[in-house]
Amino acid sequence: MFWVENKSLFIISTFVQMPRFNFNDTRNILGKLTFRRLWNGVKVLGSYYASRISNKPIQWGYPVSISFEPTTSCNLRCPECPSGLRAFTRPTGMLHNDFFRKTIDEIHKELLYLIFYFQGEPYLNPDFLAMV
Ligand code: SF4
Repeated sequence: MFWVENKSLFIISTFVQMPRFNFNDTRNILGKLTFRRLWNGVKVLGSYYASRISNKPIQWGYPVSISFEPTTSCNLRCPECPSGLRAFTRPTGMLHNDFFRKTIDEIHKELLYLIFYFQGEPYLNPDFLAMV
């Protein structure tokens, strides 16, 4: 009984925290969905379950979503950010446009979602708008 009550509480709190359904976002992402991207998603999900069942790392398909980081540099100094603190363990620099182009050319038919941000200020990369 206690477990059921906790589960109900969890479900309620999950719904309370869920973002509202956005028709435009949903229509936009469904408009990008092709059979190839859907099949890639099925392969990625299948590899997840195959890995869980076999207890071995199995990877099918390409990433469904990726995040590019146009630059690790930033002109601000936000204290919670490795870029702002200049505390990266990797080099600070700009993503090269030819590397970006080569990667996108390889995976764009499977890729459903692309984010142009991780850390750093994307507009500091002089090629940023050409990438977009
Ligand atoms: S990348 Fe974003 S969070 Fe980090 S220092 Fe720059 S503005 Fe702040």
